Amino acid sequence: MPKIIKAKVIGFCFGVKRAVELAEKHPERLNTLGPLIHNPQEVERLAEQGKVPVDDLKKVTESTVLIRAHGVPDFILKRAKELGLHVINATCPFVSKAHALSKQLEKTGHQVIIIGEPNHAEVMGIVGNLTSPIVVKTLDEAKKLGQFNKLGAIAQTTSNTQLVDQIVEELKKHTQEFKAMETICQATEEHQAAVRELAPKVDVMVVVGGKSSGNTTRLHQICLEYGPAYHIETADEINPAWFTNINTVGLTAGASTPDWIINEVEGEIKNI
Ligand code: SF4
Repeated sequence: MPKIIKAKVIGFCFGVKRAVELAEKHPERLNTLGPLIHNPQEVERLAEQGKVPVDDLKKVTESTVLIRAHGVPDFILKRAKELGLHVINATCPFVSKAHALSKQLEKTGHQVIIIGEPNHAEVMGIVGNLTSPIVVKTLDEAKKLGQFNKLGAIAQTTSNTQLVDQIVEELKKHTQEFKAMETICQATEEHQAAVRELAPKVDVMVVVGGKSSGNTTRLHQICLEYGPAYHIETADEINPAWFTNINTVGLTAGASTPDWIINEVEGEIKNI
């Protein structure tokens, strides 16, 4: 049996934990606007408790709607209130900070650059509050930008810290006046640092989390810089062949992966 070493920081972050707790402690049924977290198994568990996701305010059937940790543009909150819905706002405070800082940059005349994934709910929420932001996902995209009088950058809270640093350095070449705001959340920095510490010391890494979870995907990408790494959602996906002639397995999990799934994966690897 290979030795399993868990990352020092693993699984649920503060923002996701808070959102799940807010949903669970609400005594009645409610709708969440979008899946509460990027973890299908946990979303299903919550749905069994009457916390059911819908993808549009028009589809809300309950009297309460919960805004997930990713946040939404202000107009969605306004519309929910106009519809007479009771709103539980579980937007993560780190995401709210990114909203506030991007608005501030726009107010001071900066062309706002959001470093992140254009189709991610958090980024779309921030974009929805601004007049003409530019979303940059890769260093190549940043290189293709023109020149601007004033540039201001924020990053999606769960971005790869090293990539953001590279993009920020590139952006500085595209303006005389540049301002970068710190918006990567503490949980992301801690998860990524813990993985960078663990991955070089083990033979293989297993990364547990939703396939659509951005922060889990980035943990997987970081692990691959050091050696073999597998991204799985559940224990069923474990392939015993991964652990042939292996002495140590590193285990990490994204910020939206509940403990019960991490424990199942750990148990399954121990059984090999
Ligand atoms: S990953 Fe960070 S920003 Fe996202 S919910 Fe967790 S603490 Fe908040």
